[in-house]
Amino acid sequence: MLEVKNVTKRYGKNVACDDVSFTLEPGTLTVLLGPNGAGKSTIIKSIIGFLKYDGSITVNGKINKSVEARKILGYIPEMPSLYPTLTVTEHMEFIARAYKLTNYKDRVNMLLERFELDDKRKKFGDELSKGMQQKLNLCLGLLPDPDIILLDEPLLGLDPHAIKELKNYIEEMRQAGKTMLISTHIIDSVDMLWDRTIIMQKGQIRANVTRSEIEGSGKSLEDLFFEVTEGIDKSSVSGEGENA
Ligand code: ADP
Repeated sequence: MLEVKNVTKRYGKNVACDDVSFTLEPGTLTVLLGPNGAGKSTIIKSIIGFLKYDGSITVNGKINKSVEARKILGYIPEMPSLYPTLTVTEHMEFIARAYKLTNYKDRVNMLLERFELDDKRKKFGDELSKGMQQKLNLCLGLLPDPDIILLDEPLLGLDPHAIKELKNYIEEMRQAGKTMLISTHIIDSVDMLWDRTIIMQKGQIRANVTRSEIEGSGKSLEDLFFEVTEGIDKSSVSGEGENA
């Protein structure tokens, strides 16, 4: 279980995350929705341990920056940061060594095939198109096969085949019992089988609802999104979650 409690992150006077609290239950898929600048990347980077913040984040009771927590947490950043002079294969080897993975070759092959990078193995980071860089970014994040995986705007820049493949892969991870947090600002992209949706705006959580709460309300996710972000009919569906 991942618990985010009262996390506040400031950049100077700008409060990027304002007293944010939520829980990711094991084996669930949570969608983190919000317009650009809502604070989605900031909370994800805080969870993965890249940022300093006020508040507490724990993974199975261990602080997120501990060695135990780091072994369980995986992260796919929005922006790929590749090495221009390493090939696709060398990037995968680099991650395998960094995570001390054993017997990873089949997994490397599977990922490169699924995300259509199989014939790009010898290409250097700076020879890859933007879309290919995004796909390699995904493969690198998925290679260690962590129990909890945070995906920051994972569909951006992908072609339709890769989007379909990633959605299939997400569903497979869900069936395998992985815990996932997927951020997006595009409501239409949230057509996977999510369990919970958290809507952020201006650094705060505006709604935290389960799928059954939404279905029971007779409203779509889009209805809820505009209600809570544009202040229309705020009363009826806000869920029982924290900061809702
Ligand atoms: P989102 O991922 O929802 O688009 P972000 O978490 O990237 O939002 O940004 C939240 C707020 O924090 C925005 O106002 C953004 O300008 C600000 N911000 C994000 N990163 C930095 C940074 N490195 N330095 C200063 N301000 C930042």
